[in-house]
Amino acid sequence: MRASGTVDAYVERVLVVIAHPDDAEFWVGGVLADCTARGTQVTYVVLTDGDAGGYDPDVPRGEIPRVRRAEQRGAAAILGVKDIQFLGMAEGSLTHPNTWLHAELVRAIRRTRPQRLITWSPEWNWSRFRSCHPDHLATGTAALRAVYPDAGNRFAIPMLLEEGLEPWTVPEIWLFNSPSPNHHVEVGHCLDQKVSAVAAHASQIQHPEELEASIRQRLEENAAAAGLPLGSLVELFQVVQSG
Ligand SMILES: [Zn+2]
Repeated sequence: MRASGTVDAYVERVLVVIAHPDDAEFWVGGVLADCTARGTQVTYVVLTDGDAGGYDPDVPRGEIPRVRRAEQRGAAAILGVKDIQFLGMAEGSLTHPNTWLHAELVRAIRRTRPQRLITWSPEWNWSRFRSCHPDHLATGTAALRAVYPDAGNRFAIPMLLEEGLEPWTVPEIWLFNSPSPNHHVEVGHCLDQKVSAVAAHASQIQHPEELEASIRQRLEENAAAAGLPLGSLVELFQVVQSG
């Protein structure tokens, strides 16, 4: 596994494509806190509002998208992320072929011109079955299909060029929840920030008093999987060269 103490190389722009509000903070909050501290501009594209989420039956279901967007804005702000695009799709709808979503993702890539795109692995991770929500796998697939071939092909989706959006080739993709991680990032120095950002998704957390311990345990499990000594706290990725 490729190793590094912190994020490998500085990049100016990172695009994060996720299925639901809270995906980014739970899975890559440490890396994102580290990125923004170094001056990297991070953009989120959040495909759904997570409208099937939450635990409180007293909250009207129609209120959930508003609640979750507000939580997402607050959580992102804790990590230093200011640019968030909500696509507002229905939770559970991502597995259907969708040319509108494809064009939106190609548009987001051309608008933000990221040197690194972070998204869900499109592959099942059998050791974390309940992390493999169909929306997660579909998000990874949709993001990768946007990277290649259309984001870098000026003749694809002609309306984008008419909007002034030039082609852009994403050189590197970082997949989280991959069954085949090949890279880890030490995030112990960002733990407090990550925990605060996850806690901002209050509607999704049943036992806030256990949150820090459960996040620490997950990061320790990641470290053990990477063969690192006890005490290391890491986030795991499969890094793919895509340029
Ligand atoms: Zn999710």
